[in-house]
Amino acid sequence: MLINKERLKNLLIELIKIDSLSRKEYDVAMRLKREMEYLGATVIIDDAGERVGGNVGNLIARFSGTLPSARPLLLSAHMDTVVPGEGVLPILDGDILHSDGRTVLGGDDKSGVAIICEVLHVVRENNLPCSDIDVVFTICEEAGLIGAKCLDVSRLRARTGLVLDSDSVGFLFTKAPAANRIEFHVHGLEAHAGVCPEKGISAVQVAAEGIAQMKLGRIDHETTANIGLIQGGMAVNIVPNSVILKGEARSHSAEKLDRQTEHMRRCLEEAAARHTLALDGKRYQARVEAKIERDYDRMEVPDSAPIVQLVQAAAKNLNLDLKTLATGGGCDANILNQKGLEVANLSTGMRDIHTVKEWLDLNDLYLSAQMVLEIVKLNAAEKTVRSEE
Ligand SMILES: [Zn+2]
Repeated sequence: MLINKERLKNLLIELIKIDSLSRKEYDVAMRLKREMEYLGATVIIDDAGERVGGNVGNLIARFSGTLPSARPLLLSAHMDTVVPGEGVLPILDGDILHSDGRTVLGGDDKSGVAIICEVLHVVRENNLPCSDIDVVFTICEEAGLIGAKCLDVSRLRARTGLVLDSDSVGFLFTKAPAANRIEFHVHGLEAHAGVCPEKGISAVQVAAEGIAQMKLGRIDHETTANIGLIQGGMAVNIVPNSVILKGEARSHSAEKLDRQTEHMRRCLEEAAARHTLALDGKRYQARVEAKIERDYDRMEVPDSAPIVQLVQAAAKNLNLDLKTLATGGGCDANILNQKGLEVANLSTGMRDIHTVKEWLDLNDLYLSAQMVLEIVKLNAAEKTVRSEE
C-alpha cells in the first residue's frame, strides 16, 4: 500500500496557494471540509473562530473505522501560517519545494495537513482495516495555540495520537517546555525634559535598569527567557511616564520557570524602588505592574507511552531510525496533552520554518506520509491482536 506521491504533492501545492494567515483560515478550511467529506468523514467546524475573532473554527473530521474495538487515533495539524504568508508562489526545483523568497512557503503546517489527507485516501481506496480516526485541523496555532486552547476534546473519541508539525524526518518530539507570557507596565512621572526634568521619573530609564539586571536568553539547558517587545514614551522632549515590556520565559521544569519569571519581575521592581521623587510635599515612586500568564503547560510523553511505542514500531518496519526528542518550542500537542490526551509531535519534512527561506524536500514528505500510514495500520493491527487474547 503506497502513498500516491503525485496526489500528495499536488494537494500540498494547492493548499500552499490558499492564503490562511491566523484568523483567516476560512478558505483552506472549506477546501479541507470538502476533502474530508469526500473521504467519508463527518465534519464539524467548532466555535473557536468566533471565540478568537477569526473567520472560521477548528475543523473536526470523524472517520468511522472498520475495527470498532481498535483504539481510536487522533491525527492533527494546523491550518494557519505565519507572515509574510499571503500570495505564496510555490516553486519546485527538482524535489525541493520553496517560495519565491517574498513569503514563507507555508509547509508549516500544510505539509502536516496534506499528509493526513493522503493517508486517509490510501486507507479508503484500499479498504484498509482501521480504528476510528479523529482528524483535527486547528486554527491559530501560530497566534499562541489558541485554536487548540478552544478545542472541546470531549468531541473526540481518540485519547492518543499525533500532531504533525515539526521539521526533520526521523524525529518524534515528546517533550516541550511550559511557557509564561509576561507583560510589565513600568510607570514613571512625566515632565518637560528641558525645563524641569527633575520633576519627572523616566519610565524608560527604570525599564532599562531593570532589563540590564535580567538574565535573559539561554538560562540553562532547559530554560530560556526573552523580552521581545518594548513600547513607550511620547516625544523626545517629555520625560516618559510609561513603558510596556512584553516577553516570555520557557522551561522544561515548572520550578525553574517560576524562578525565572520571578527573577524578571524582581529586577524591575528593584529598579523602580530606586526611583523616587519628593515634589511639592508629595512623594512619587516609580512602579511596575506585572501581568503573568501561563501560556501553556509542558509536554512530557514518556518513551514507554503507547503512542511512542506505536511510532517506534512503524519506524522499524520502514527501516527508519527514529529518535524521541525535546524541543524548545510549543505546539498544539502541548495543549492537547494539557487537556488529558497523550499526543506527540511527528516531523513532516518542513525546514527553515518561519522564514522566507522555508523549504521542503518532497522525499521527506513522502517518507513522513509512509510513516503515518504505517502507524494507522499498526494501530489497527495491535488492537486486533489484543482483543483476540
Ligand atoms: Zn507549525
